[in-house]
Amino acid sequence: MTAILPGATIGILGGGQLGRMTAMAARSLGYRVQVMDPDPSCPARFVVDACFEGGWDDARVAADLARGCDVVTLEIEQVSIACLEAAAKYAPVRPNAGPMRIIQERILQKTWLAEHGAPLGAWRATRSEAELADAVAALGGRVFVKSAQGGYDGRSQVKIGFGDDTTAVDAWRLLGAKPCVAEKALDLDKEISVMVARAPSGETKSFPSALNHHEHQILEWSVIPSSVSADLERRAQQLACDIAAGLGSEGLLAVEMFLTKTGELLVNELAPRPHNSYHASELACVTSQFEQAVRAVCDLPLGDVSVIQPAAIANLLGEVWLGENGQTREPRFDRALAIPGVTLHLYEKHKPRKGRKMGHLSAVGHTPDEAVQRVMEARKLL
Ligand code: ADP
Ligand code: MG
Repeated sequence: MTAILPGATIGILGGGQLGRMTAMAARSLGYRVQVMDPDPSCPARFVVDACFEGGWDDARVAADLARGCDVVTLEIEQVSIACLEAAAKYAPVRPNAGPMRIIQERILQKTWLAEHGAPLGAWRATRSEAELADAVAALGGRVFVKSAQGGYDGRSQVKIGFGDDTTAVDAWRLLGAKPCVAEKALDLDKEISVMVARAPSGETKSFPSALNHHEHQILEWSVIPSSVSADLERRAQQLACDIAAGLGSEGLLAVEMFLTKTGELLVNELAPRPHNSYHASELACVTSQFEQAVRAVCDLPLGDVSVIQPAAIANLLGEVWLGENGQTREPRFDRALAIPGVTLHLYEKHKPRKGRKMGHLSAVGHTPDEAVQRVMEARKLL
């Protein structure tokens, strides 16, 4: 395998914030970048050489993108297998259709994880309303129902048994009467993630784990390092690296994990791309997740993942721009940036919407706690 050296062109399927930040890292390294996205004014648009307009199942456009590229990667797992295969006719696609087929469908992903010995919470695949009703009863009544296909930031999910009257019948209909997984709602102590990078050469490096805090199923803040015990860190690293090796995936693979109140370490889900919980790697680590993505897909030596200083991020959702009366307001970034150690990242999304990730703040600190405190204080000042 020969390295794809700076000066070459990288194609990214998807031009959202993850594609944008990967493109910025690629440019720093001297690569040219092209993206494909359904939205011609997607966040990556402003930092790339070309943007091809195409939906996640538009194989013709994926082929057009790949024709001018030396390697193709992705920033969203919803890209169809047909797109990956069409692109692969012209350039190596990393990760390729093999692992993507498993990862992009929740039932297949969970089945694969179970068969490969990864610890999971109780769950069932459900393909009909009756199967879902049975599963909800069998799993104890408090359940997360998640569509097998699509979904992010808690979308395409319905919770049952959380105080409202949502039933299995409601959930089945709300999710479009399509296959889904039913998961027992777990009592979580913490959520962590481990980002693994794997190059075609087989070289693998995993970042120290991140600690993640979600509100309403959307990541609110995240910090590196996670400060979990050395034993837990070792187990989380082993688990993530075994999964990446088992899948044989190239590029990045984020493994989201649950730590339950009873002390179990369980796999939640996989993401074959840069991950929101590693945005802090830009300040915390020698190599950011975005630079590592570029190195991995170009088969360059992987970068040092050591933590230089603790760093945290807080997401900025559309709500920050939306006033009480529904009018948009300009957040007070000047106030947030006055806090020592705080930096701002905006994705150039033009329309703020509730729950839409518009940007993030990051902060360094002497300790992980201090980094979280600073970033949350900065966000309050907006
Ligand atoms: P997404 O693809 O939207 O990230 P996840 O499956 O990761 O979907 O769910 C989002 C968040 O919802 C998780 O990070 C966690 O906070 C919560 N959650 C999901 N499943 C469960 C579960 N079985 N038990 C407890 N909390 C859960
Ligand atoms: Mg998740």
